[in-house]
Amino acid sequence: MPQKISILELYSQLPKKNCKECGYSTCMAFAASILEGKTKLENCPYITEEDRLRVEGLIAAPVAKLTFGKRRPLTIGEARVMHRHELKFYNPTPVAVEVPDSLNEIQISTAIKNALEIKVERLGETYGADAITITCSGETAPYARAVRQVAKSSDLPIILNCPSTEALEAGLEACGKEKPMIFAATRERLDPYVELAKKFNAPLVLADKDLGELRLMAKKASAYGLDIALCPVASSLAEAIRNQITVRRAAIENKILEFGHPIIGIPASLISSVHSPEEFWWRESLVASALLFRYADLIILRYAELETVLPIITLRHGVFSDPKIPAKVKAGLHELGSPRSDSQVLLTVNYALTFYLVSGDIDRAGIDCYLLVAETGGMSVLNALASGQMQSRSIADLIKETDLESKVSHKHLIIPGLAARLRGEIEELSGWQIFVGPAESRDIPQFLKHKPS
Ligand code: SF4
Repeated sequence: MPQKISILELYSQLPKKNCKECGYSTCMAFAASILEGKTKLENCPYITEEDRLRVEGLIAAPVAKLTFGKRRPLTIGEARVMHRHELKFYNPTPVAVEVPDSLNEIQISTAIKNALEIKVERLGETYGADAITITCSGETAPYARAVRQVAKSSDLPIILNCPSTEALEAGLEACGKEKPMIFAATRERLDPYVELAKKFNAPLVLADKDLGELRLMAKKASAYGLDIALCPVASSLAEAIRNQITVRRAAIENKILEFGHPIIGIPASLISSVHSPEEFWWRESLVASALLFRYADLIILRYAELETVLPIITLRHGVFSDPKIPAKVKAGLHELGSPRSDSQVLLTVNYALTFYLVSGDIDRAGIDCYLLVAETGGMSVLNALASGQMQSRSIADLIKETDLESKVSHKHLIIPGLAARLRGEIEELSGWQIFVGPAESRDIPQFLKHKPS
């Protein structure tokens, strides 16, 4: 694991009392948990402030984290590894949507409303746009007006995308205390943008097509103690991905400090010659997904509608989930809607994706029922059957443990179509009549309509 310090080295820095006051049974377990990012040094009350600061320097992520936004702070960066299986990825890549200052007041209101209405449901969580980027057309007054309107109408963190020092200063003032992120200082305007970032205590994005120049700019801006992010400018998707991999590898594997900052991806800058707005939408979504997959820590989208954002958030969910923790829900009896004693009882597994697909399809059909959720270690039906995690005996036991017979006036259980082969055994062991349901959860409502009661 590419840490600056090993578990044993970190352990040697701890008080070694094994007193359990940190919540871990030994100092060694505490050290392992710190390196996995699950706990913090300050949870050990016996580490002096001086030691804490020294050790924190040793265990810091090679990619710094950056936080912007005051009312709804957003943190990006803090990458520790190149590959998810080595540890996990932290701080899922936020999606910022763009509002140009060329829009009039009503159009800006509509754009903000659209951004706030984006909702993507995934495994029981709801996601949407994470930030708003206000793009400047070059004029100071319209920019300040647009920034003021966005800051007033939404609490999403703000990114000021502005090529003019004067307009940027006006935008920063219009943000009040909101702590926006500045996008972006080029080599030509580095000095004035650094001055404004210092003055307003705002994180600063640096942009250049030459990685060597970007490194020099990062060195200069870091010397002022600024929080910075990097935007390696490219003219094609292949070049953008190559740049992002180079920057991240330089930070994590080669420990080049100037590259140890979050990466900002701008998909629209890599899209040209489209034939229709629809083509731009799907291409932006595709390019954003590719950039996210290769280390972009924040994506700025031009077209912000559900169809662009949905695939990106779905991919993000997969990339940033912890590979060591199965996605599972609580096993047992779940009530969907307001089931009565004559309501149906269906069986599923505790793999989160399966559970939310099944419960979502039932919920959308407006069906009140009981859902019996088997403990399969977070495995889907087929995997659980193949590995022996889903067995007739455990399902018969679950019927008893959940006291189903006291809740319903019948003894009918609908099992997933993929588990049809368990039917006879479950009937024998439980005394319940087993019905084999459909293989796909979307067919459950139709199945229930025709099931004999
Ligand atoms: Fe060790 Fe400190 Fe945890 Fe006690 S509180 S077990 S000394 S790490």
